[in-house]
Amino acid sequence: MTSLTAHGICNAIGGQLVSGPFERVASGGVCTDSRALAPHAVFFALGGEKFDGNLFAPEASRTAAAVVVSRVEPGIDPSCAVILVEDTLAALQKLASWWRSNLKLTVVGLTGSNGKTSTKDLTTAVLSRKFRTVATEGNLNNHIGVPLSILKAEPDDEMAVWEMGMNHPGELAPLCGMARPHIGIITSIGTSHIEYMGSRDNIAREKCTVAECLPENGHMIFPADCDYADMIRQSTRAACIDCGIDSGTVRAENLVSTEDGTRFTLIIPDFCRETVELPVHGRHMVCNALLAAAAGWVAGLAKEQIVSGLNEAKLTGGRLHCKQSDGILVIDDTYNANPDSMQAALRTAAGLPCTGRRFAVLGRMGELGTFSAEGHALVGRTAEELHFDYVVSVGQDAAQITDAIPPGSATQALYLATPEEAAEWLRNHVAPGDIVLFKGSRAARMEQVMNLTFPPQ
Ligand code: ATP
Ligand code: MG
Repeated sequence: MTSLTAHGICNAIGGQLVSGPFERVASGGVCTDSRALAPHAVFFALGGEKFDGNLFAPEASRTAAAVVVSRVEPGIDPSCAVILVEDTLAALQKLASWWRSNLKLTVVGLTGSNGKTSTKDLTTAVLSRKFRTVATEGNLNNHIGVPLSILKAEPDDEMAVWEMGMNHPGELAPLCGMARPHIGIITSIGTSHIEYMGSRDNIAREKCTVAECLPENGHMIFPADCDYADMIRQSTRAACIDCGIDSGTVRAENLVSTEDGTRFTLIIPDFCRETVELPVHGRHMVCNALLAAAAGWVAGLAKEQIVSGLNEAKLTGGRLHCKQSDGILVIDDTYNANPDSMQAALRTAAGLPCTGRRFAVLGRMGELGTFSAEGHALVGRTAEELHFDYVVSVGQDAAQITDAIPPGSATQALYLATPEEAAEWLRNHVAPGDIVLFKGSRAARMEQVMNLTFPPQ
C-alpha cells in the first residue's frame, strides 16, 4: 500500500480518529502482528479466541504511524494516530476493498482443495516473465491473509496472484468480493475440510464461488479431469479453459520423470508446442503447471515466457521438496496432508527411479470428520497397491493408515508413537538408494521426524 495519512485511512474504513497526528503518513504497510511491525506501518489490533490485539496497541504505537483498535488502551505513544472502530477485522477488510478499487492490475484468484500455493508459485513465476506481479506470501489465504495480500499490492503492479482458502461454507464469497479476480483458477476439488463442509458437492459449490464472481471478459481455468467440470462451466460467464495431461485445451503430453522433476510437451492449440523442464516431481504438479501456463496464455505472454517461467519456478517449502542425504532421496511433503494429496505424493514417490527401497513415513490427517477412518485406510491401501516396501505411521491417530495394510503383505507396516522412536527406527533401517517420503497434516509436524532422521546440513 502506498503512503496514506491516518485521515485517509479513517475515511476509507469509517473509523473515528481519537488522538495523534492525523496527517502523519503511514508508509510501512499494514500489519496485524506487533512483533513484525515495520516502522511507520498501520497496526490493526485483531482479536482472537485466545488474544486481544488491543492489548498490543501501546507497544505497536512506538513503531507504527497509526493503530486501528476497537478499545483504546492506556499507554499509546502520542506520536501515533489512534483510529477507533467497532470491528477491527471488518475495518481491515474494508481498507483492502477500498485499496483494491484503486488498483488497475489484473487479478488471478486461485482456490482449490489441493495445490493452491504450488499453483500460485508456478503462476507467479510465469506471469513475472512479462508483468510486474505481486502474489500471496506463503499461505496467507484466509479472511485475514487475503486483505493483507491485497494491501501489499502497489499502484504500479500489473498482475496479482492471490490464493483464497476456505474451510467452512460461505467463506469464499467475501474473499472474492475483496479480491475481484478477472482470471479464476480452481486447482482441484477434493475432500479437505470435509468435516466442516459436509460433502464433496458442498466443497464443489463453494469453490464455484470463484467462477461465479468473474466478469464476462474473464477466464476460468480448471482441470479437465475434474468431475465437477460441468458445475464450474455452468457457474460462470467467463470463458472456460480446461487443462490436463493428455486431455483439455491446455495439455501436457510425453511426460518423462527426470532427476530434478518432469519433462513434458506443453500444448496450447494454435499457440504453443514446447518442451517444459518442470523443476518439481509429480503428475499433480504438471497439472498445476498447466493451470499456470493457461493463466500466462490468457494474460498475453509469449510461449517462450511461459516455458521459461515454468522451467525456473521455485515452490514454497514443504511441498514435494526433494533432497539427497548420504545417497538417500528424502522427499519433504510435510507441509500438510489430506487423502488426495497423500495419494498424489505416494504416486509421485512410487514413480521415481529407485535402486533401493521405498519408505512412506506418514502422520495423521486432520479435519476429515466422519470420513477420517476411511480416508486414513485409503492412504494405507494406496501405499500397499503402489508396492511401498515400508509404511511407517507416526503419532496419534496415524495407526489407522498402517492398520489397513494386512499382516503378510509385501508392504511392511509399522506404527510408532513418537517422532523420536520413528527417527531411531528409520536411522537403523534406511540405506543408500532408498527413497523416504515424509507427509502428514500440519498438526502432525512430520518435519520433526524428518529433521531428527536426516538432520538439516
Ligand atoms: P492449503 O489449503 O494448506 O493452503 P494448498 O491448496 O495451498 O494447501 P499446496 O500447499 O500447494 O496446497 O500443497 C499441499 C499439498 O498438496 C502438498 O503435499 C502438495 O504436494 C499437494 N498437491 C499440490 N498440488 C496438488 C494437486 N493438484 N492434487 C493433489 N495434491 C496436490
Ligand atoms: Mg496454501
